[in-house]
Amino acid sequence: MEVTEVTLRLFEPQPNPDQTGVVAFANIVLDSTLAIKGIRLVRVRGVLLASMPNKEKQRECEKCRIRNDITNKFCHSCGISLTRIESSQRIFMDMVHPVCVSLRKQIEEVLICEYERVKKQ
Ligand SMILES: [Zn+2]
Repeated sequence: MEVTEVTLRLFEPQPNPDQTGVVAFANIVLDSTLAIKGIRLVRVRGVLLASMPNKEKQRECEKCRIRNDITNKFCHSCGISLTRIESSQRIFMDMVHPVCVSLRKQIEEVLICEYERVKKQ
């Protein structure tokens, strides 16, 4: 399986090179048949990584630490309001991700190459 198309948009403002953060958003097509939208290219400790599309799945109650469905307004265990959510309490699930290391590596290489090309323009 190969990446046959890539479109990439730089995130603005770009984080400083020594900061962790999203540097670009990308869409790819695999083998001219499967589109994957919403991949984030993230810099972590100076290394660029592909963060596959994900969805917020659950949130952890700050009082009792029970996981609640994202649609719950109140904790199903202790009843506390779940409206104030710290980022550390948010739980995400990948919607799509490569199951083999070689495809992940290929996707990251294509995205990094495109990122460098777009950044120069
Ligand atoms: Zn609770």
